[in-house]
Amino acid sequence: MLLGFKTELKLNNQHRIALMKHCGVARHAWNWGLGLTKQILDHNKVNPDSKIKFPSAIDLHKWLVALVKSENEWYYECSKSTPQQALMALREAWKRCFNKTAGVPKFKKKGKRDSFTLEGTVKILGNNKIQVPVIGVLKTYERLPQVLTKSCTISRQADRWFISFRFEVNQQDCLSDTVVGVDLGVKALATLSTGEVVLGAKSYKKHEAKLSRMQWLNRHKIIGSNNWKKAQLQIARLHMKIANIRKDTLHKLTTLLAKNHGTVVIEDLNVSGMMANHKLAKAIADMGFFEFRRQLTYKCELYGSKLLVVDRWFPSSKICSSCGTKKETLALNERVFECGHCGFVIDRDLNAAVNLKKIAS
Ligand SMILES: [Zn+2]
Repeated sequence: MLLGFKTELKLNNQHRIALMKHCGVARHAWNWGLGLTKQILDHNKVNPDSKIKFPSAIDLHKWLVALVKSENEWYYECSKSTPQQALMALREAWKRCFNKTAGVPKFKKKGKRDSFTLEGTVKILGNNKIQVPVIGVLKTYERLPQVLTKSCTISRQADRWFISFRFEVNQQDCLSDTVVGVDLGVKALATLSTGEVVLGAKSYKKHEAKLSRMQWLNRHKIIGSNNWKKAQLQIARLHMKIANIRKDTLHKLTTLLAKNHGTVVIEDLNVSGMMANHKLAKAIADMGFFEFRRQLTYKCELYGSKLLVVDRWFPSSKICSSCGTKKETLALNERVFECGHCGFVIDRDLNAAVNLKKIAS
């Protein structure tokens, strides 16, 4: 099976310039090819008796090399695969248009969905580096999967750059066919129906204290001054460190779940609703529930386990996991669930996790 991976790049200015140039070449090749193919279609409409054959991606690239590259020297500063891939994408876009599965391809504008594709020696070096043709070695914030790939796409969103690639994986066998319910929480990162409790990263609190201290100490610096810039850089680095610790913790948790259980049941959290509650918001942002869901989805695919997402209105915390009686009210600070009907006593989060598990089994 083919898995996709996309992550943010950590760039220096030299790299940023090279990426912009590649986007420029990809856009130029696309727009040139689109202009030409539109002319051909117009010609064929007016001259039904002397139609010109609609070009293939290979034809287009041959013409580009002959007509466009020699006139625009900056093409030579970029990988030759970039215009080639842009023309292939254009040909695919026309194909979809002719099949009526999509509209007529559009001209690309600078700064809007900038992207380009590189083909050739794409190599993952170590945990955080990827080598790509012409541009060289690019760094990532996130750990890269150790896989083989032949091409990658680099794209821009505002001032952030992302790299994505696809790779072939043998589906790995999930170790068992058990069902696990997962209650995501504020106090502990996750409580599993097996009784396991996964706490958030410990080192993280320490860094966070340092962060708020730094922000406070720098509150009077003049915005834009050198001292302010220095402090901003330190603050940004600390933010990154915290984000990385968080991501690592999530990776461990999601692998544990997908690898060891045949079915994973989670709740569809109403994150935007919870974000409105300011106290909860910070805890949720810290734990990265969006990221949790993203990781768990692709890992379940990888291990061939099932991910079951339960409707957010399911009252997982209010039901007694022993007798099934539902409580009318349960305050947020009640950490222990006591059933008024059968007298069952259980940790609140564990109770919720067991209820989630029960849905699937
Ligand atoms: Zn009960």
